[in-house]
Amino acid sequence: APTNTPEPTATPTPDPRPPDQQVQVPDVASYYHLEISSVNVDTGEVRASEVVEIREFRGERPDLLYFQVLPAAYGFFTLDAAWLAGVEVAPEAINGGYTLVMPLPADLATPFEIGFDFRLSVGYEGSGWGGTARDGEVLRLGYWFPVISDDHGFSETMDPSYTRVADGFDVRVNHDPDVVIAHTGTVVAREPLDDGRVRTVMQASGVRDFAMTLARGYQVDTGVSANGVTIELYSLASSEARLSDADAAARRGSIIAWAANAVEQLSSLVGPYPYDTLRLADAGPSMPGGVEFPQLIYINPNYAPLDRLIYHETAHMWFYGIIGNRTLLDGWIDEGGAEFFERGLPTGFTERPAVPSGGYLYWLDSSYLELPPVPRSAWYYAIYEQGANFYYDVLETMGWDPFWAAMQDIYANHAFGIVTPWDMLTTWQRYSSVDLRPLYQEYFRYVWIDAISGPGE
Ligand SMILES: [Zn+2]
Repeated sequence: APTNTPEPTATPTPDPRPPDQQVQVPDVASYYHLEISSVNVDTGEVRASEVVEIREFRGERPDLLYFQVLPAAYGFFTLDAAWLAGVEVAPEAINGGYTLVMPLPADLATPFEIGFDFRLSVGYEGSGWGGTARDGEVLRLGYWFPVISDDHGFSETMDPSYTRVADGFDVRVNHDPDVVIAHTGTVVAREPLDDGRVRTVMQASGVRDFAMTLARGYQVDTGVSANGVTIELYSLASSEARLSDADAAARRGSIIAWAANAVEQLSSLVGPYPYDTLRLADAGPSMPGGVEFPQLIYINPNYAPLDRLIYHETAHMWFYGIIGNRTLLDGWIDEGGAEFFERGLPTGFTERPAVPSGGYLYWLDSSYLELPPVPRSAWYYAIYEQGANFYYDVLETMGWDPFWAAMQDIYANHAFGIVTPWDMLTTWQRYSSVDLRPLYQEYFRYVWIDAISGPGE
């Protein structure tokens, strides 16, 4: 493939977005302080407190805030207390406990703070995909704290709802000294506590979530990509039991090399990886594949084909992580995109998914409410693989250079923001000398496709 792509010329996305393309998560300048006063990786018991600084509403000030609480969907979450601006409150739990509703009094001005004291009794989770779960010797803490989101239910198909990039996260964890933490962000301090435990202090900025995995047995291997990103791999001897020492070391080296290669290619094609480190962590033997969080990827190193898993999850650092999207509504952007890069990055963008016999059962724009979880193959094919084929169709219709110029425009305009289908489809069309609207009509039901300006219009 050609290596020279045009410099992106960031052109503002036409506004306003159509009504169904509005982002419902409030645009709020927020800073999360999270403190885990105790965590037991053997029992899954976690005691935590959270303070969210609400600094400023950039858009319309909402009457209430919705906090998504994923561990509640598994029965792992207990709220002990909540505060709003120093006053104890009792937020209503809706969506089966999955969402906490925090009304905001009309006279409450920013800045103010919202606080939660909570416990997690993290157990095993049946599907293996659980972001927060115990799995073997690993305690996964992903989507583990109440986070500002919108009003939606739990999905067994698509990822939990998108969140806005916060001003920052400050995360303090008191833990046994032999526990190793794979995490978002950067460790800024490790302090011994009087009782023999250790406090690890981490901070992150430019991210929309903060996740961790904890295990006593993690071995950490490190590499550096050609563009200077440190790749850390957290592995477990228990997952390498069937390998010789040499084969285990070779596999660890391959994982780091694939991740580094993906970071290099995606930085060049789409836009720079904006953090100094990417971490990949063995999330336990029940993990069926991988799960992405900012700067942190859960993997099962015994997954095959392992290289494709690493490319897929690393691609999510861009599509979902850096460039956010409404994951429950527009899964084709992040999952179709990750599948496109999973197949494209290792093959020079020559490998397409085969269309399953009988075709795809759902439109590409289907939301989580339209995708029955069973059979898994139906929604997986419809969103992931059909999505990859759509990206390929756009690439091949536009041509290589215009396509990547458009992708870099999307990065320039939407990095650290939320991209919608309107933004994606209009940006591609603006860089295309070919009318893409007939292609869009083949995949999507969006009523506004004809409102997109065609080439030369
Ligand atoms: Zn994915």
